[in-house]
This record gives sequence, C-alpha cells and structure tokens, in this order.
Amino acid sequence: MLEKRTPRQRQKTRDPKQRSKDFDEVALGFTEEQATLEAKRCIMCKKKPCVAGCPVDIDIPEFIASIVKGDYEGAIRKIKEKNNLPAICGRVCPQETQCEALCTLSAKGKPVGIGALERFAADWEIAHLKLKIPKIENRRGIKVAAVGSGPAGLTAAADLARLGYEVTLFESLSASGGVLRYGIPEFRLPKKILDIETEYVRSLGVDIKLNVLIGRTFTINDLFNDGYKAIFL
Ligand code: SF4
Repeated sequence: MLEKRTPRQRQKTRDPKQRSKDFDEVALGFTEEQATLEAKRCIMCKKKPCVAGCPVDIDIPEFIASIVKGDYEGAIRKIKEKNNLPAICGRVCPQETQCEALCTLSAKGKPVGIGALERFAADWEIAHLKLKIPKIENRRGIKVAAVGSGPAGLTAAADLARLGYEVTLFESLSASGGVLRYGIPEFRLPKKILDIETEYVRSLGVDIKLNVLIGRTFTINDLFNDGYKAIFL
C-alpha cells in the first residue's frame, strides 16, 4: 500500500492577492486525486496507533481504506460512527498534536494527512449526498439537557440523541455554535459548514433553544423540576 515516493499532499490554498480582499475560506481541501494519493500513503498499521490520538476514537485506517477504494460514502459512514461534526473537525481539529502525531509515518517522515482526508470525505458527502440521518433504535423517553452549543455541547447532544435520549440544547446567544461561530474566523471555518453540521445535529432530534441563559432564564433546579434527568454543563 505504501508508495514510498509519494510526498504528503498539500491542500491548495487561495491566492493571497485574492484572499486579502475577502474573508472566504483559505484552504480548498484535497482534490479527488490528492485524496487518493494521500490515502495510499497509509500503511494500514495493525495496531492503529493514530486511533489512540483521536479524542473520539475514529477507526482511521478503516475510513482511509475506503478512500483508497474510491468508496467515499463508506469513508464518511465510518467517520460518522464516532464523529458527528467531521467537516468542522477536518478543518479545525489540531490533528498535528493528536492522531497525526502518533502516525507511524511520522517516525521517518511526514504523517498521513488524516485531517485533510476527514475533511475530504465530509465535504464529499455535503456535495454529493443528502446528509444521512442514522436510525435511532432505542428511544428511551428520558429528557436530558446540554448547556452551551459550542463543540462540546453539540457533540454531547448529538451523541446522547443517537443513544435514544430526548435532548434539549440550551444556548444563551441568538445563534448556536459558541466558539465555532464566534471564535474561529470565516476563512478557517465557514459559517455555512457550521450551519450544515448543526442542522445534522438538529435532525438527530436535538431541540436547540436559543436565547436561554441557564442560571438566569432558568436555573439548574428549574431544569430538574421540569423533568430533565441529567444535565451536561
Ligand atoms: S498510524 Fe498512520 S500509517 Fe498507520 S494506520 Fe494510522 S494513519 Fe495509517
């Protein structure tokens, strides 16, 4: 599988002259050809050291193997078994200190571009498929809440919804996303991408309530009194 002479692929970026005039995204993502070349650099290590560096435990070589085969839908399904926000994470996760830092190839060269491959699979899904909503088998009829719709709140809410809980996500501001919306500039993470993945979280059944400041609009005790059995803060 290893093509020794294939260098690590670099995402194309917009011309600095052009991008100095606007705030549009700088990195353009891999082309299909680049994604295939980069995926083929993975040597499919049996012990999968990269997975230990992934905070959400994505089976990295499995999704990369799907890209090698040209099965991009298979790749995004594998990623989404563990990660509900792959287009966001593929752009802004610090892979260089996580999965890529543990990649076997980094011992003698450059690690596999795992983050850019994740972004490729996620962007491919957005461009080619209707976002597929996983079937929720075990509806528990138990209300839980998450407070704050930044990356932690969105992730917790989506995971809990997939486990069958009735989830309400409370956000104090008039738009969801927290640091993803207000802390990361458009040229790194377009709001369009955030909105698409937030819509995916909603479609899992998460009720996002905006302009609700927990502690002022409602207290934690109000939530428990209202029937919420657990609250993620
Ligand atoms: S450690 Fe690197 S080369 Fe090995 S399976 Fe993971 S991504 Fe592929």
